[in-house]
Amino acid sequence: MKARVTVVGGGLAGVEAAWQCARLAVPVELYEMRPAKLTPAHKTGALAELVCSNSFKSAEEGTAPALLKEEMRCLGSLTLEAAASSRVPAGGALAVDRGRFAEAVTAALEAEDVVDLTRAEVKELPLPPSVVATGPLTSVPLAEELAAALGHENLFFFDALAPIVSAESIDRDKTFEASRYDKGEGAYINCPLAADEYRAFVRALAAAATAPLRDFERGLFFEGCLPLEELARRGEDALRFGPMKPVGLVDPRTGARPYAVVQLRAEDVGGTMFGVVGFQTRLKRPEQRRIFRMIPALARAEFLRYGAAHRNTYICSPLALEATTEMRSKPGVFVAGQLTGVEGYMESAATGMVAGLNAARLCRGEAAVFPPPETAVGALLRYVTTAPPATFAPMNVNFGLFPPPAARSRRKRHAEVVARARRAFAAWLAKVGEGS
Ligand SMILES: Cc1cc2nc3c(=O)[nH]c(=O)nc-3n(C[C@H](O)[C@H](O)[C@H](O)COP(=O)(O)OP(=O)(O)OC[C@H]3O[C@@H](n4cnc5c(N)ncnc54)[C@H](O)[C@@H]3O)c2cc1C
Repeated sequence: MKARVTVVGGGLAGVEAAWQCARLAVPVELYEMRPAKLTPAHKTGALAELVCSNSFKSAEEGTAPALLKEEMRCLGSLTLEAAASSRVPAGGALAVDRGRFAEAVTAALEAEDVVDLTRAEVKELPLPPSVVATGPLTSVPLAEELAAALGHENLFFFDALAPIVSAESIDRDKTFEASRYDKGEGAYINCPLAADEYRAFVRALAAAATAPLRDFERGLFFEGCLPLEELARRGEDALRFGPMKPVGLVDPRTGARPYAVVQLRAEDVGGTMFGVVGFQTRLKRPEQRRIFRMIPALARAEFLRYGAAHRNTYICSPLALEATTEMRSKPGVFVAGQLTGVEGYMESAATGMVAGLNAARLCRGEAAVFPPPETAVGALLRYVTTAPPATFAPMNVNFGLFPPPAARSRRKRHAEVVARARRAFAAWLAKVGEGS
């Protein structure tokens, strides 16, 4: 094993991976293809360029994104250090001045003696110990190498995500459990709509604001995977013959087939999160909140993940990765960032920290580690490495990923998850420190 780590990709995940190595005084070669070769979304040569929003989501105590940041700070996050010096006012969120943020990250890494930054595209999988963190817009030659190593069916090029709501926010008085034609157990929670409710919903959907499509995303959608709002625009009944079809379902409370139905399917074994079946959408988030809450059973829905549809390269991590982020088929090669199937700047950065830490530990002859699932980082890693492979889709950090708490009220449940995570993370960190 060589005594230096190769990190490919100088985005959110790659810079954290390199920084972890530097913190352990392990030499790193960091490869970034920009500015000579840009992705379709990046515009500069700066490391950790933010391609869209300048927000790192909530910083408010008691939320899942804030808990993730807290753990990242304990691990010595470079992106959060840079965010602190480039923060702009954003209420309860942590938002940054993009330019200053990227400059601060770039300067910190350039100042590190053990970090050797090379501006070049990497076209082959690096030798171990290494971290691949080339992101949602991984360049084609490397994506092909990944596909060859993992099997072409295990590398995906775009997301079409349906929203996920928390179980406790569904109004169960307005639902019934059943599978179509009573096949198997009542596997779905069905949310019926009367004719007037359905028509109002379709009208709102057809008129709703969608996220802008970027040039490289045009032509992304095909008939089998049209966003919900596109279907709604094709005619009033299109959804009733598509994802909202009521056939094979009888509402036991009325003894009749509903006019239209929205089906919810469990996303986890504990039944804490439910996906809205067939609701892949490009609606803006406030529009998703407003319009999906028109469904009577979802009037007070808490959205754990919003729907989205965009270009995104990611691997089938449940088949490909260990919880340490190491590739099963390539020992010593770790994968990080959006490529692993996490969604979002901070989630990507967090996996970069684990991948970098483990690549550095490998150089030092130490065993790979990962935080327990009670922690925010551990819950994310558990999701991406154990979710059912057939329906695996990218995920942001949220309370539905954690082992279910005992408390009953939502506020107390969240507080219990946070307190348990803090204890588990501190114990894990102490153990990792002792072992090294
Ligand atoms: C259009 C778009 C908009 C997005 N908007 C948001 C948003 O608003 N909020 C949010 O949280 N997330 C957003 N995301 C997701 C976002 O990309 C991730 O959250 C985050 O940037 C992922 O971090 P990463 O390190 O995995 O990838 P990136 O940050 O993209 O970093 C990957 C790096 O690898 C480099 N690279 C690629 N291939 C090679 C190669 N072969 N050799 C060398 N270098 C290479 C790239 O140039 C890039 O610098 C968006 C993604 C896209 C595509």
